[in-house]
Order: sequence, then structure tokens, then C-alpha cells
Amino acid sequence: MPAQPLLVVVSGPSGSGKGTLCKMLREALPELSYSISLTTRLPRGDEQNGVEYFFVSKEEFQKRIEAGEFLEWAEVYGHYYGTLCSSVKTLLQRGKDVLLELDIQGGRRVKQVFPEAVLIFIRPPSLEELSARITKRGTDDKAAINVRLSCAPDELQAAKSYDHVIDNNIKEQAFADLLNIIEREKSARRRGQGGMNSERRTEF
Ligand code: 5GP
Repeated sequence: MPAQPLLVVVSGPSGSGKGTLCKMLREALPELSYSISLTTRLPRGDEQNGVEYFFVSKEEFQKRIEAGEFLEWAEVYGHYYGTLCSSVKTLLQRGKDVLLELDIQGGRRVKQVFPEAVLIFIRPPSLEELSARITKRGTDDKAAINVRLSCAPDELQAAKSYDHVIDNNIKEQAFADLLNIIEREKSARRRGQGGMNSERRTEF
């Protein structure tokens, strides 16, 4: 029997470096399929429709909620974000491993629908460092930065409910930890031990 595909959710506060780590992961593991979310926020910097996100109006997002198209959706930092059921289910049915980059509400919801999903939390070294990173990134205005930073303490609390927590102090080390988790989860599935249990929970 083929191994059960892996559904990986990566979360962490804005500025934790999860986007960079996910990008590195997708480059290192091209066989890992990335499900592109829909969002009502405007593109930032050089973001393109259909690459980072599908950028849609609030009206379109609302229609898709009513049509039951989302596996999960959430309001995050004042905008809507959602994962299409069709996108994730089609990939899993084809036996593909899937990567989702979601906020903590999305992570919780995915775990309810797919208890075997692997939830990975990216933790920044400190709130001060988080603030420095978001400011240095230069993609958000001051009001947006403040909204994102004000959510960070609650988001950090959610790390407790994740299967794995990676401290992103040094990017290369955090990336090695991420690869290591994925390899361990994949080999567990090859041995027919899909899903997480508390013994395999790791904090790096
Ligand atoms: P950003 O605006 O920085 O791209 O994303 C803001 C937050 O929304 C991040 O925590 C990101 O992981 C999360 N996010 C992106 N797509 C989705 C999604 O489809 N669902 C949920 N729940 N969160 C998402």
C-alpha cells in the first residue's frame, strides 16, 4: 500500500520567518505541493496573483464562503484568508504531500478535519526581534505592523497545541529542523504509522 500523503501546516506570528522557511522548503522539496490561498488583502511588494495568493474582492470571498468552497477560512489582521477544499483534497487524493501556510485559526481547523495533519509552529527569538524583523521587511505600513505585532502574544500561546515547535533564531538551523521533521514524518508514514502522537512531538 502506498504511504499516506503528508499534510503539513506551518504557522507562526507575522515576521517569524515562516514565509522564508516555506519558500526554502518548496525549493528543496519540489514534490511538496503548495496550496495557494485566497485573500482579500491587497498584493504587497512584487506579489503576483496566483503565485503567493489569489487576490480577490470581499464580495467574491463571501460568495465562496456561502458556496462552502473553503476547507477553512479566517479573518487575520483585518483581512480574509482561506484554503479551498478542492485544492487540498485533489492533491491528497492524488497521493501528493501538501504544504499549507496558515494562521493559528486555520491550523486548528485543518487539524479538526484532518487529525493526521502535521502542525509546525515557527517561533521567533523574542517579541523585540519580531518587531525588528517586520519593520526591516518594509512591506507593511505602521498601522499594519502594529496590528500584526499586537496579535503576536496570543499567537505564541498557540504553539502549545502544535505538533512541533521550531525556534527560528538562525535561519539555516531552523530550516534544517524543518527538513528533519518532514523526513521523520514521511518515514513514519512509510512504516504505516500515519499521524502524530505525543511521543513524536518535538521542540527545537
Ligand atoms: P500575510 O498577509 O502576511 O501574507 O498573511 C497573514 C497571515 O495569514 C499569515 O499568518 C498567513 O500564514 C495566514 N494565511 C495565509 N493564507 C491563509 C489561509 O488560507 N487561511 C488562514 N487561516 N490563514 C492564512
